[in-house]
Amino acid sequence: MTPVTSWRLEVTPDCIASGVCLALAADEFVLGDDGRAHPVREVVGERETVLDAAASCPMEAILIRDAVTNEPVEW
Ligand code: SF4
Repeated sequence: MTPVTSWRLEVTPDCIASGVCLALAADEFVLGDDGRAHPVREVVGERETVLDAAASCPMEAILIRDAVTNEPVEW
């Protein structure tokens, strides 16, 4: 059986609420009352839209880590 990889998502305080991640991964990120984006779910399965959002964030504020090993996921 193929192991299932899960990612842990975090948005750092560097977020400037550009909205790019909300546009690219609307199911994964939401804008909070604090004016910053936040992950809808802290842990998600691997998905391309999250990688696209992280790579497109102008502040590199989206961190993706392997939920088990805590190793950073490169995008
Ligand atoms: S793309 Fe980056 S800066 Fe823009 S809202 Fe998302 S986390 Fe914040």
